[in-house]
Amino acid sequence: MAASSASIENYQSHSKLSKTEKKFLRKQTKARHTLLRHEGIESVSHATESLVIANGGLGNGVSRTQLLNIFERCGSVEALLMPPNKPYSFVRYRTKEESQKAYVALNGKEMVDDLGQNITLYLNFVEKVHWGDLRPSVLPPGLMIMEEIVSPEVEKILLESIDWTHNLVDENAQKSLKHRKVKHYGYEFRYDNNNVDKDKPLPGGLPDICNSILEKWLTEGHIKYIPDQLTINQYEPGQGIPPHIDTHSAFEDEIISLSLGAEIVMDFKHPDGHTVSVMLPQRSLLVMTGESRYLWTHGITPRKFDVIQASEGQKSGIITNDVGNLTLNKRGVRTSFTFRKVRRTPCDCSYHLVCDSQRCHQNETLPSFPENDKKASELEREYVHRVYEEIAEHFSSTRHTPWPQIVAFLKALPKGSVVADIGCGNGKYLGLSKDIYMVGCDRSQNLVEICGERQFEAFVCDALAVPIRSETCDACISIAVIHHFATAERRLATLQELARLLRPGGKALIYVWAMEQEYNKQKSKYLRESRDTKEKKEHLNSVVIPGTSSHNSVCSIPAINDLKDGDYNTNGVSNSKLPVHTNRTSFHSQDVLVPWHLKKDSRRDKGSEPLKPIPDLVGPHDPSTVFHRYYHVFCEGELEAACRMVNNISIEQSYYDQGNWCVIFKKL
Ligand code: MN
Ligand code: ZN
Repeated sequence: MAASSASIENYQSHSKLSKTEKKFLRKQTKARHTLLRHEGIESVSHATESLVIANGGLGNGVSRTQLLNIFERCGSVEALLMPPNKPYSFVRYRTKEESQKAYVALNGKEMVDDLGQNITLYLNFVEKVHWGDLRPSVLPPGLMIMEEIVSPEVEKILLESIDWTHNLVDENAQKSLKHRKVKHYGYEFRYDNNNVDKDKPLPGGLPDICNSILEKWLTEGHIKYIPDQLTINQYEPGQGIPPHIDTHSAFEDEIISLSLGAEIVMDFKHPDGHTVSVMLPQRSLLVMTGESRYLWTHGITPRKFDVIQASEGQKSGIITNDVGNLTLNKRGVRTSFTFRKVRRTPCDCSYHLVCDSQRCHQNETLPSFPENDKKASELEREYVHRVYEEIAEHFSSTRHTPWPQIVAFLKALPKGSVVADIGCGNGKYLGLSKDIYMVGCDRSQNLVEICGERQFEAFVCDALAVPIRSETCDACISIAVIHHFATAERRLATLQELARLLRPGGKALIYVWAMEQEYNKQKSKYLRESRDTKEKKEHLNSVVIPGTSSHNSVCSIPAINDLKDGDYNTNGVSNSKLPVHTNRTSFHSQDVLVPWHLKKDSRRDKGSEPLKPIPDLVGPHDPSTVFHRYYHVFCEGELEAACRMVNNISIEQSYYDQGNWCVIFKKL
């Protein structure tokens, strides 16, 4: 309590405190601790120009105007920073005297927030203010908002034309929509399978008034074609719609939504977690195409207030992270007219991971977790060997840069050492040093051929049975290989095979993918390094698209399903199936299928055009094919534990390097 008392010394002498004062002090201290513990906001015991205002935030219904009115009474407010969805704000005065005045006058001040609830403000001085996430936001690619697309007169006609008493979707469906009113025209949208019955158009088609408006938009070039399905939703304040992607196979690329009656904020979310909040003004038209339609989820958070830009001016568009310019906006009743065109052929978009038409490459069904050795071997054949054979050329074009710690291991070997690279890929380590003799092997014929073209010694074999005599190698390396084996027994067997090859005193270096890779933390670093981008991104994987199973999970990391909640459930897979990961987010299961996007013209048997590495998330016009590679990503300590089961070796080093768990062991 000493520290907390010190902080209010300039508030009043604390020797003779009344009951109320003691209670206040307790609450103020609690507020300070909460801010420190949950938000990392550190308050100081001396006066500064800035105060953190606990309970006075957008997250608990306090608006910018309300706070400004109160705080400007104590001096001139230089900045009022209100982070979105947080129950606190920061105020900065020009002078310490002013902030001190506010500290004394407003600490413990009771007020009524915008939701009509009583709250008490608790103030503490801070040295630093949290500015929050200031990454500049841009609209999701393919998204457009056209303001004032209809006149207030037309808006009125449209709203009055809806007869809510007839043709409501059936009662059960209505219940699951949490009382949001919905009406369909043209085709009924079914919430059980998130699709439309394409052979059963509703009688009457779209309302005439809509057709004439759509014709006009088409002529004016706002839309590409005339839609044939209309869903009208009515959202009362407090209602929303869970984040979802409109089913690819149900509708064409262009989805448009007219906002009537009131404005609203819609949240768009990329699979990597990046969220962009967008203001849809009253009478505006939202047009979603390409990436914004296929890859990003969109949804409306159920709440009575939206966080919006405080300054006048630009009406539509992104709600920035500018904490100095946010406030609350009371929602009204918004009615949306969403027009879509029913799709007649399977979707052929480039966003395979979220595309129900392209659930898997070449109509294959997702494989299950292998129950026995035979199934494991089949899984490896289909989801490792065959895939690397197909992607060999493209894969090789993304593998140039040797990793420093592996280079260091090889360079430290005595001159004349015999080294086997088990799973050598395109041979990027084989030509590293003239002082050692290296031989490589790989399961992929095509990769071994690439080694041959580069004048390296390499042959085809499985890491479970290497045709090299026992105790002949001074060293072995196994880089990004063992994670492709589908059972713990098989992974252990590859380690035993490495040990068999080593002469007494010889050393093996092993790298396997780590479960604990964190995409966001590594992002900046990866962005800085432009070379070998694909190779590095390869180590940054992924939100499991719904149906996460956590087979063999040692880490027990909870699954996150951004695309799954509420009345839309896209892309479900059953639990016995291996989950497919979206690249560039963290792992949620140890046994996974990791996609490889291959350009169709980059296959080895189709000419020898120069290859460019392609990004993991390909653009809308990229004619790529996706392959799934099986991986068992290792948890911390798992590789080391497996090595400890190998006889006649000692573990020399165990470390983490660029998204991999690594072990160096020595043959005894
Ligand atoms: Mn939608
Ligand atoms: Zn699609």
